[in-house]
Amino acid sequence: MNAAVRIDPETGLRLFNTRAAKASEKIAGKGYSVVTDQKLTELPKPPAGATFNAEEQAKYRAFKEVRRGAADYMAMEGDFRKYLDDVYSEPPIPREALDDECEILVVGAGFGGLLLWQKLNEAGFTDVRFCEKGGDVGGTWYWNRYPGIACDVESYSYLPLLDETGYIPSMKFASGFEILEHCQRMAQKFGFYDHCLFHTTVEATTWDEASGRWIVETDRGDKMRARFVILANGILTTPKLARIAGMEKFKGESFHTSRWNYDIDLSGKRVGIIGTGATAVQAIPELAKVVGELYVFQRTPSSIDVRAQRETTTEEREIWSKEPGWAAARRGRFARISEVRAAVLANDDYLSGKSPDFKERKIYDRKLTPEEFMQKQLDSSFRLMEQVRARVDAIVKNPKTAAALKPYYPYGCKRPTFHDEYLPTFNLPHVHLVDVAPRGVSEINERGVVHEGVEYPLDVLIYATGFQWMGTSSFNLIRGRSGRTLTEKWETEGTRTFLGLHTRGFPNLFIVTGPQGGGGSFNFTDVIYAHADYLIWMMQTMRERGAAVVDVRKEPEDKYAEHCRDADIATAPLRDCISYYNGEGKATPGSLAYYGGRAWDRFRMEAQSSLEPYVFEGDPN
Ligand code: NAP
Repeated sequence: MNAAVRIDPETGLRLFNTRAAKASEKIAGKGYSVVTDQKLTELPKPPAGATFNAEEQAKYRAFKEVRRGAADYMAMEGDFRKYLDDVYSEPPIPREALDDECEILVVGAGFGGLLLWQKLNEAGFTDVRFCEKGGDVGGTWYWNRYPGIACDVESYSYLPLLDETGYIPSMKFASGFEILEHCQRMAQKFGFYDHCLFHTTVEATTWDEASGRWIVETDRGDKMRARFVILANGILTTPKLARIAGMEKFKGESFHTSRWNYDIDLSGKRVGIIGTGATAVQAIPELAKVVGELYVFQRTPSSIDVRAQRETTTEEREIWSKEPGWAAARRGRFARISEVRAAVLANDDYLSGKSPDFKERKIYDRKLTPEEFMQKQLDSSFRLMEQVRARVDAIVKNPKTAAALKPYYPYGCKRPTFHDEYLPTFNLPHVHLVDVAPRGVSEINERGVVHEGVEYPLDVLIYATGFQWMGTSSFNLIRGRSGRTLTEKWETEGTRTFLGLHTRGFPNLFIVTGPQGGGGSFNFTDVIYAHADYLIWMMQTMRERGAAVVDVRKEPEDKYAEHCRDADIATAPLRDCISYYNGEGKATPGSLAYYGGRAWDRFRMEAQSSLEPYVFEGDPN
């Protein structure tokens, strides 16, 4: 046995020392700057009387239809596998392959894994093992370290375990570097590192009916048995590339934003970036500060809302340091906000408990019909988007560039973004917006990108082309009771889960924040808390009942899938555009994200009180 694996003399459990990351020692940076120019931190007033009338609806439809079918992505395989290398760590720590058993095996050491460990440990479940692909904790925040990275949900509600660690974020929207450090803080404080196998990727998870165990195999040669498997490996984890003719020919340097190569000095270079989603919007203003020439290849503009970044005040620090539970209380208030913009821009008076509501409520003299309510939502989304478009005109000087930067789709249909420096960046003489709408970049050669016969020679090409949504790339590696994989089940029956957490035929397997996994909040952290609390309840219930195995019945699963589909269809007009949220316009309703809001809590509470959806079996030994 080497030092990377040892036995705890007190508990008999295996403890690990496999953390390999250089962490933030070499790579530090900042997220959003504090911008004081009021012109940049406020949206222009909404145009009087603007409604989402037939003409505007036709404009939105045309914007969508010309892009239909343009999205074409590929996995990082073959020549492109190198883009997946862990550029942030030392090589993996050598260790023996494990052939043993633990009670709970969790895949992923991001927010989900870290929070689960704190809660499981507190509830007395200590025989827990984590497998993590990266060299340290952090998940999303381990992999994504591009310049400008920050959270878009206010950090006081977004960072987990602030009360328990006594940490107060430095900014309202903390940088990704600060968030990564907080992940390390959580891991250190609660002894997570002893339980985690870093640089360990799960390659097969197979249910063994005879022993009532999952057999988990990894790329390090491990073959471990576990009573429970929890997938906490994220919903936007696997990076993807746009499939572009000739991309393998490019002779310059290239990388994907989720493996930012800080060994390449970008100063003074000709740099191209493909994609203008949430990542690119944060990275572009920072890139523009160092590169020689910047070419931004944009197929569809993001909506760029105000950020209004600020530092945490001295008063807040004083109050919070004396108020136990301040973060949980604030997160609870945040979770009550069900409108995307109100949630992400988060009103401080309400969140700090000074005012009872986050907005003034309109009182209607009668209950609106569902159609009237939908029209109201579409009108208010349209007015807000008019403000977002007016902001582009107010800031960007070149009218052609400004026209290309204006998005025509409902607010929140594509991931809304927030920045007070992004639009002004396009006024800089060395920053060039290359409008590749509506079909995108379609050719790359040895020297750079070619579009409509024009060559853009580049030293460095950066792919800001996103991640697989709601596919963790592990669903096809999990084989349940029937011998089918999870992917095969969902391909034949449609996505079928109960609460997004269980799926029939895959006993003792739990999926955190996966497809159909509601929780009713825009704050991803809130959903993780809801899922972690549910799993603790489930494991305690099983202990109390002396049950070894839990599966779910067919009817509740079917009913839940139907509910997910209906909720998706009912709210679809608010998301009528081409977006990864709806599988680039191709997803079956209800198969990906959850749109039922608080109904998830109702399903959960009913199940917890009646236990009717569950089939409990066996003796735990
Ligand atoms: P993304 O939103 O999926 O963006 C991919 C971009 O690539 C899109 O702009 C897409 O254009 C473009 N694209 C694809 N193929 C192209 C082609 N051939 N030519 C030109 N453009 C092409 O990915 P992302 O920006 O990495 O963001 C992913 C998600 O990560 C976000 O939505 C967010 O949830 C999360 N994220 C969060 C934060 C945060 O919290 N602060 C920051 C960054 C990311 P189309 O739009 O036309 O398809």
